[in-house]
Amino acid sequence: MFESLSSRFTSAFGALRSRGRVSNSDIEATCVQIRQALLESDVALAVVDGFVANISEKSLAALPTLQSGTNQGQAIFEIVNTELIEILGGQARRVRFAKKAPTVIMLAGLQGAGKTTLAGKLAKFYADQGNTPLLVASDLQRPNAVTQLQVVGDSIGVPVFAPEIGNGVGDPVVVAQAGLEFARAKQYNMVIVDTAGRLGVDEELMKQAIAIRDAVTPDEILFVVDAMMGQDAVRTSQAFLDGVGFDGVVLTKLDGDARGGAALSIASLTKRPIMFASTGEKLSDFDIFYPERMASRILGLGDVATLADQAKKAFDSDTSAKLEAKFASGEDFTLEDFLEQLQAMSKMGSMSKLLSMLPGSGAMKKAIDNFDEGEIVRTTAIVQSMTPTERRDPKVLNGSRRARIAMGSGRAVSDVNNLVDRFAAAQKMMKQVRNGAMPAGMAPGMPAMSAPKKSVVQKKKSKSGNPAKRAIEEAQ
Ligand code: GDP
Repeated sequence: MFESLSSRFTSAFGALRSRGRVSNSDIEATCVQIRQALLESDVALAVVDGFVANISEKSLAALPTLQSGTNQGQAIFEIVNTELIEILGGQARRVRFAKKAPTVIMLAGLQGAGKTTLAGKLAKFYADQGNTPLLVASDLQRPNAVTQLQVVGDSIGVPVFAPEIGNGVGDPVVVAQAGLEFARAKQYNMVIVDTAGRLGVDEELMKQAIAIRDAVTPDEILFVVDAMMGQDAVRTSQAFLDGVGFDGVVLTKLDGDARGGAALSIASLTKRPIMFASTGEKLSDFDIFYPERMASRILGLGDVATLADQAKKAFDSDTSAKLEAKFASGEDFTLEDFLEQLQAMSKMGSMSKLLSMLPGSGAMKKAIDNFDEGEIVRTTAIVQSMTPTERRDPKVLNGSRRARIAMGSGRAVSDVNNLVDRFAAAQKMMKQVRNGAMPAGMAPGMPAMSAPKKSVVQKKKSKSGNPAKRAIEEAQ
């Protein structure tokens, strides 16, 4: 979403960071570039002006005090990073749980913003953490919204309170209130109320949202906004703030390729934090919004922290421990282990998304966009078509077995041969590494996938969580 903004920032700072000493006019020139980049990305003018003025003032003030020998360009980059984090809301804020359950979360926003999808994502997110959410279907307006919520609820095993079929029938306020009572009676600890939107802000919509709010007195009202809306996102958020009011923002469709800057202005303009980010239609395309991670991405430093989180989630500790023990004991890494790793990788989501979290990914954009996502699926299909014995001991794979596997996976025999050959080469390489210097804790076979798990945890302990600061620490 923020690729163009990111590449503009990267080029604005490329020259500055490579310079040891920076002059006042260098700072001014950089500020002009930053201003242009932000405006072209649709960031609201008032936010841009405040941001650039702060950077200019703080950078000029810092220059004389920066010791000679310090990389001044890098220090100014850090000032920009800090300001960007500030614009994005500063610290990530979590949902405040009610002292007395259930915690009530009400979703508000325009039709199509992604509220119903988000209701499911939130429910899954909190259910995975051991909570017992109840989804309440108070969007009785949009065709099929109730059914959509029921389907989502079913798919994640979260109950849906839906006494009305919707499609214009029923009173959403009564449903919300009854939903809350039901949750209290059945001791759910969280209630997520999906509400109706309209295509644009109108009085009736606002009245209904206010009535639902007053009926359920939510602990959190989350304003859900489509990040691809452009400047309208800013106007809409202001209207919702003045109308029903909200405590936090959820940006959806951050996977889109629109400029997205308007969405970045919302936290600063409404003084409400962005709490979650939605990056796709799947229930797993969702996370807490971390301002510092987003700033890091925008400044071209990637988002290694999120990558590590996802790896941690996908590679459960049992599998990792098993692989490490296997590796340490000198046992062979088999195709069965490889299959487990492939499946874990698929759980982490699309490879392009993962690659785009790496530092410098802006420069590899084309290659990342062209990444063949089907490769993992095809490779998995080949390994799945093997018997357990074949996976454990690929040496038994004679011609007829390979032909059978090719047929079973819908691939050519040459694809099977290719995989087996590459696997044998990797196995050989691993043996050599084991006899040499393999970093401790690195799981075999997929070093690049497993490595962040430990190395990032270790890094966090000893180095700054702020990417710009870390870059300075590492340079020293
Ligand atoms: P609602 O009217 O606010 O309840 O919106 P929906 O939840 O029905 O979402 C509208 C459309 O946007 C649906 O097709 C969703 O699948 C899609 N959608 C929701 N969130 C995202 C997202 O983060 N990324 C993308 N690409 N699509 C999304």
